[in-house]
Amino acid sequence: MLQNKAHLDDTPVTPPTVAPTASGLSLPPLQDKFGRTFDYVRIAITDRCNLRCTYCMPEEGVEFGHKDTIITTAETLRIIAVLAKIGIKKVRFTGGEPTIRKDLPQLIAGAAATPGIKGVHLTTNGLLLHRMAKDLLAAGLTGINISLDSMDADRFMRITRRPGVETVLNNIQLALDAGYPRVKVNVVLMRGFNEDELEKFTCYTKDHAVTVRFIEFMPFDADQIWGTGDHFASAETIVNKIKSLYPNIGPAPGTRTEHHIFKVPGWAGKIAVIPAFTRSLCGNCSRIRVTADGSIRNCLYSDEQYNLRQIMRAGGSDDDMIALFRKAFAEKAIDGYESKKLSDAKGILDTTQQHRGSMTQIGG
Ligand code: SAM
Ligand code: SF4
Repeated sequence: MLQNKAHLDDTPVTPPTVAPTASGLSLPPLQDKFGRTFDYVRIAITDRCNLRCTYCMPEEGVEFGHKDTIITTAETLRIIAVLAKIGIKKVRFTGGEPTIRKDLPQLIAGAAATPGIKGVHLTTNGLLLHRMAKDLLAAGLTGINISLDSMDADRFMRITRRPGVETVLNNIQLALDAGYPRVKVNVVLMRGFNEDELEKFTCYTKDHAVTVRFIEFMPFDADQIWGTGDHFASAETIVNKIKSLYPNIGPAPGTRTEHHIFKVPGWAGKIAVIPAFTRSLCGNCSRIRVTADGSIRNCLYSDEQYNLRQIMRAGGSDDDMIALFRKAFAEKAIDGYESKKLSDAKGILDTTQQHRGSMTQIGG
């Protein structure tokens, strides 16, 4: 199953060498015991959302964190500055829905101005983008992923439980017209929901310079639909379907998670397939997740959390924070299957380490 696991084994590697950072500090980069280096942080800046996607959270929402537990602007920027000292180069703001945070331009500007940070990205449902598109670009955003699972108004409504497909489509166009670099469209492709739109989404790349990313459905839906039927479509199935529809499709360059990435010759955009559930990319993992309430997660499939907020609010130093990141990643399992097995075996369920069932709770 693990296509990229070949270079990984259980033998600990030698400690990382010191890497000078752009901030002038010389600290070892963040690595795990399998030699993977982590240089990309995804920070959830809220657990709340203006949509209710059925594959993500129920109509009534999930148990949202109290506002005092959500990391502040200053804390978020401090986390980024601390991470930059240990080699983190890319930041993605996610959620919940990050555009509902009024300080989003400030966060983007602060992250972009942090020495060592080379890219600042956003994952959004796109509904509010028209209100802030220029501000986000001016603040230094270097990439945007807009989630859209259907181009049909009724189906969009059924999936997200809210209207808005036209707004999202207009806002994707707006991002392209405004000159946003790296515009991507995230599509969670599910059987019985939207798999019949695979061709429509692929065709969208003919005239739109976007990467359409088909993402495997994962069981982080707050126990709504994963268990109710056969909705999962594997990356392999999706790739085969794309290849049968477009036999002349060819490989294209992409990011680490875009393991399967193609382009129809002559078309403006690209198509990627993300094996989020089958986890064939764990060997290449470079991600750190920070939840909206300030916990570090070393894997999407682990329930283990490391409470950074507590350290910051108790007056902890940058070194204390770095030590917690190092601990979290020293304890990272070899892949997502192992992470899940370890968490299940531990039965993590106390008040600070609850199982979190929705993507909004695990650092989006
Ligand atoms: N609200 C923003 C959005 O929807 O883009 C950002 C947060 S959302 C949790 C981040 C990404 O996770 C979205 O692309 C969404 O489609 C995806 N996602 C949420 N739940 C998922 C699930 N159960 N399986 C696969 N992807 C999921
Ligand atoms: Fe909101 Fe994004 Fe979850 Fe949909 S996937 S409910 S837009 S956080």
